[in-house]
Amino acid sequence: MYDWIIIGGGIHGCTVAAYLVKSGMCEPGRLLILDPHNEPLRNWKQQTKQIGMKYLRSPSVHHIAPDPFSLQQYAKKTNSEDFYGPYKRPSLDLFNDHCDQILAETGISSRFQTATVAGLDKTTNGWNIRTESNNTFAAAHTVIATGMGDHLAYPAWSEPFLHQENNMYHALDEHAPDASGLSPAVMIVGGGITAAHLSLKMSRLYPGQTTLVNRHPFRVHKFDSDPGWLGPKHLTKFSAIQDYKKRREQIQQERNRGSVTHELLGKVRKAVREEKLHHIQDNVVSAEDANNQFCLHMNSQQEVNGKTLLLATGYQRLRPKPPWLETLLNDERLTCASCGNPILTPSLEWDNRLFVTGPLAELEIGPVSRNIAGARKAAERIVKQAQKHPVLQ
Ligand SMILES: Cc1cc2nc3c(=O)[nH]c(=O)nc-3n(C[C@H](O)[C@H](O)[C@H](O)COP(=O)(O)OP(=O)(O)OC[C@H]3O[C@@H](n4cnc5c(N)ncnc54)[C@H](O)[C@@H]3O)c2cc1C
Repeated sequence: MYDWIIIGGGIHGCTVAAYLVKSGMCEPGRLLILDPHNEPLRNWKQQTKQIGMKYLRSPSVHHIAPDPFSLQQYAKKTNSEDFYGPYKRPSLDLFNDHCDQILAETGISSRFQTATVAGLDKTTNGWNIRTESNNTFAAAHTVIATGMGDHLAYPAWSEPFLHQENNMYHALDEHAPDASGLSPAVMIVGGGITAAHLSLKMSRLYPGQTTLVNRHPFRVHKFDSDPGWLGPKHLTKFSAIQDYKKRREQIQQERNRGSVTHELLGKVRKAVREEKLHHIQDNVVSAEDANNQFCLHMNSQQEVNGKTLLLATGYQRLRPKPPWLETLLNDERLTCASCGNPILTPSLEWDNRLFVTGPLAELEIGPVSRNIAGARKAAERIVKQAQKHPVLQ
């Protein structure tokens, strides 16, 4: 039996693992991460590369290791101090190198097993975890860190083109083709940071043949949500709200969805001035795909044409509902709020020794729950609970 099994080896799963090992709460050999990919952080690395992100939006104190200054110290030691702006936002390369170093140093890299979880069964001393290939792993404690998965958001007008052979892709889809092999002209639909990064990348690859379409004026925010959500300033009041519907409303309201940073907007505007990028602010009402050519019909009656359509429309608002999770919550009668998200203890326990992080922990962690800061907050709470009830060998 393992002391801890973490389902999902993305930013959230790896952060919990790093906190457990670094705090001494779990020997690396007593921990296992199950994930369908063959390496940790696969979604993160692929998505950020796919959109051409150079610097993170979040500051350098947000990363997978418990010591907030670990990344800065690593950069100094390795002579790789590549930060942007007053919040020292790390370059993607530096951030990823630091993750790799933490996972290697803690021994977590070798605790990664390629497997897709298909079910969980409660036992007298923990959980049995079944995989799609019919293996079973026993754990004293389990953490569900499966992220947003393939719960991508598609605009209603794009739905007829889903599951068909065509040149429409979601920017965060792991099956999207390499950017260098796309057929121009390229149209990008979306108004947030993903759309901005992607527009810059595509306008470098296909100058003058890339169009960004967004429906609202650019919303400029430094971060995904107010930094007050990282500490007691907002969280104390949030935790005191008894009505989970109200908590959900606050999460929706406080997330700066579809926003860009000032510096990134400057780059987008420069690309437009240099005529490498076309920009149209209008709402797509419908679309046609004829002879390998997409035509977007806009609210203003104008049409935009292109061979490739990239949707930078983010993730859905609510949590994914894979069948195994729905079976688990029905079998164990786990409690959910009306929005479908788990109702948890403050230490993020959904059931005895069953913890969650990421989108599933939103009603406790608040608007930053899906981000790196949310992963750190969740890991802190889980470790604190583990310290109260250590596994006795
Ligand atoms: C382009 C982009 C840029 C971002 N930039 C920032 C930033 O600068 N700062 C910030 O704080 N946040 C940022 N974020 C937001 C957030 O930090 C990331 O989305 C984060 O990577 C989410 O991590 P995760 O572990 O929840 O999800 P994932 O990375 O998706 O990991 C979940 C893992 O669980 C696995 N899994 C799913 N189902 C199963 C199953 N049944 N069995 C086993 N494993 C399963 C998945 O395959 C996956 O590997 C960004 C997000 C994106 C997309």
